[in-house]
Amino acid sequence: MMHRVFNFSAGPAMLPEEVMQQAQKEFMDWHNLGTSVMEISHRGKPFKAIAEESIQDVRDILNIPDNYHVLFLAGGSRSQFAMVPMNLLDNGSYKKTAYIQTGIWGQIAIAEAKRYCDVDIIADSENTRFTTIPEKKEWKTFDKQHAYLHYVDNETINGVEFPFIPESNNIPLVCDMSSNIFSRPFDINQFGLVYACAQKNLGPAGITLVIIRDDLAKRTPLDATPSMFRYSLQVENNSMLNTCPTFPWYMAGLVLKWIKKQGGLEALGKKNQKKAEKLYNYIDKTDFYTNPVDHRYRSRMNVIFTLPEKSLDEKFVAEAEKVGLYGLKGHRFLGGIRASIYNAMPEKGIDTLVDFMKTFEKENS
Ligand SMILES: *Cc1c(COP(=O)(O)O)cnc(C)c1O
Repeated sequence: MMHRVFNFSAGPAMLPEEVMQQAQKEFMDWHNLGTSVMEISHRGKPFKAIAEESIQDVRDILNIPDNYHVLFLAGGSRSQFAMVPMNLLDNGSYKKTAYIQTGIWGQIAIAEAKRYCDVDIIADSENTRFTTIPEKKEWKTFDKQHAYLHYVDNETINGVEFPFIPESNNIPLVCDMSSNIFSRPFDINQFGLVYACAQKNLGPAGITLVIIRDDLAKRTPLDATPSMFRYSLQVENNSMLNTCPTFPWYMAGLVLKWIKKQGGLEALGKKNQKKAEKLYNYIDKTDFYTNPVDHRYRSRMNVIFTLPEKSLDEKFVAEAEKVGLYGLKGHRFLGGIRASIYNAMPEKGIDTLVDFMKTFEKENS
């Protein structure tokens, strides 16, 4: 048997084992072509079939109606931080946008948007060190003068997740779902645009899923917007304006098939809920481990916690690795420990982690 650890890395993250095995099996000779999927033209029939099937699978899984486009783009979610304002300001007919700031990714998205327009932060939890979502009655108002309302559904670094979709007052709702897409069902009709880089829940790094409503794809980009950054051009060219990242796209396609095989988002949502509860229940039972996040908004994907003393962090991570638990070091901004438990993390991984935490607590308290 091959040696495989439970990988709690935040991203690039663990992929489903079946997907890796299939990719390995057909790596040299894809579907009897006598060549790897890495070595064929993105414009040829075989790759086009992969692309079309993956788009159809996204549509099936999320029940996406015809007035939305599904794109697979390069550049990661950080490119979307820029592409969103560059395109949705409708060449300056909108002067401002609205953002919700519940963590570090939201903060970075806001800094990027400020290059292009005024940003009104309508809800902000920075004063709690990003451990909650502000009460709705504290939110500032926003209106049709705002090009869109942007938020981050799951803050990967801070471990804060929305359990609801914010009310957008009929202005387009734009959401960064990088670290929780396909982890539970959601109604795409409530959104104008959703984006997610692949390396958390969808595949290897190098490709980003963008789901955009047709009216937003038709807004006019700022004049200086590069071709690659124009949604309209990417829609027109089926995400193949240039040579698309074929291998990550193929891998994402395999993960989408796996999601379907798991029973879709209802089934995955239940599994993810159970996994997260197991871990939080244990953290709450002891005084040794602490999770700082408002219980209502704890992330089901990224469970952050601290030990009684910072000096124990390194020891925790090193000893965890010895028993096959990898990638638990907290984000460099926050320190502490972070267990990222996306779709591909089996429940067994959580059980093994909790067992290790119990032992570590006994030995160090
Ligand atoms: C990982 C992540 C990003 C950054 O993605 P890149 O692909 O590295 O640009 C942005 N937002 C969230 C919520 C993330 O988890």
